[in-house]
Amino acid sequence: MKKFDIPSIYRSSITTRVKDFQNRMDPRRRNFSPTILDFGPVEFIVPRHFGFCYGVQNAIEIAYRTIEENAGKRVFFLSEMIHNPTVNSDLISRGVRFIFEPTGKQIIHWDDLSPQDVVVVPAFGTTIEIQQELLHRGIDPYTFDTTCPFVEKVWKKGIELGEDGFTNVIHGKFNHEETRATFSHVSQKSPAVVILDVDEARFLADVITGVKSRPEFIDRFGHKSTAGFDPDRDLQKFGVINQTTMLASETKEIMEILKAAVTSRWGTADARIHYADTSDTLCYATNENQSATIEALKTRADGAFVVGGYNSSNTSHLVELCEAVLPTWFIKDETEICSGTSLFHFDWRNKKKLKSENWKPEGRDKVRFIMNSGASCPDSTLDGVMLRILGFFPGSADPEKVIARLMEGNS
Ligand code: SF4
Repeated sequence: MKKFDIPSIYRSSITTRVKDFQNRMDPRRRNFSPTILDFGPVEFIVPRHFGFCYGVQNAIEIAYRTIEENAGKRVFFLSEMIHNPTVNSDLISRGVRFIFEPTGKQIIHWDDLSPQDVVVVPAFGTTIEIQQELLHRGIDPYTFDTTCPFVEKVWKKGIELGEDGFTNVIHGKFNHEETRATFSHVSQKSPAVVILDVDEARFLADVITGVKSRPEFIDRFGHKSTAGFDPDRDLQKFGVINQTTMLASETKEIMEILKAAVTSRWGTADARIHYADTSDTLCYATNENQSATIEALKTRADGAFVVGGYNSSNTSHLVELCEAVLPTWFIKDETEICSGTSLFHFDWRNKKKLKSENWKPEGRDKVRFIMNSGASCPDSTLDGVMLRILGFFPGSADPEKVIARLMEGNS
């Protein structure tokens, strides 16, 4: 895989070296076994795949190069470049300003921009409407474009479906920047509707089979379907594409529900005419990170730390996988761990921060934690969390020695 020029502040002495080790031992990325770091009283179970993905590294490389090469110019990002507070704060400290909040609320007006300004498109991509707005103001949206190639691949698939006469059913979060961008691009060629989860897939299936009415469709999906979407006409032929970071198992279930609805309405023989049998359009990193997390969960750890931005979609799905199996704490960085007993963590379902006690099991010779992080989390942030935890386990081995032992044991 391509090597990127990532600022040294995001690299680290534990995590980056564990990743280098994993890549050296498994260059073909086929072995999903986690790496065990044994510090004595505490053991960290590190999944085979975690942290910065291709698209995030690509975006960071372009962003920092752009800032360096455009000293003296005003540099704007359409929105947070990626969903990570550490990275975004560092960009702000270098003078970068965001035009939109992640919710889509515009905080810098278009009239405040001039053709001399630098405007960077984030890894999620952007909508055709925003691209046109920038062009209208003399700013080329493709000059500083960090849109991930895996997001563009989804747009391409959706456009192909549209050209073949299929509506796009998008499995994603309608308010997420990437899904808004995908919706905008694919709806140039076809009607489109966004569904969030299995519940909404079942609802749509009922619309297809006639159990639910057109007004019920409009009520549920009117705000997240293309203008004039007619379920009677536009659900005659459709295919499913994804926001790249959704839960793979959920996408699979959604596809099965919708395919079953098509078969029930038109029969098995005609199902192909009405349903484009696409495979999921999740990106490689989503698939690898989720599979590696499932593998790490087989180690029967005592708990899992998942580190990442609280608005990070891919991170919340890693949390979802872990919390189904064991106590899990979703934290943005080490500052959330207050003491050896209490910590703050994020409840991604209800979007609020909680305080929990007793994260550290007492009276045990060895405690085992899975240490995981989302695709937009720097290695240095995961290191900060590891070091903070080690500080609550007196007698823990020196990380340098643990890493050296790992390398020696496998040299
Ligand atoms: S999670 Fe996937 S689609 Fe998103 S930036 Fe990373 S590689 Fe690209």
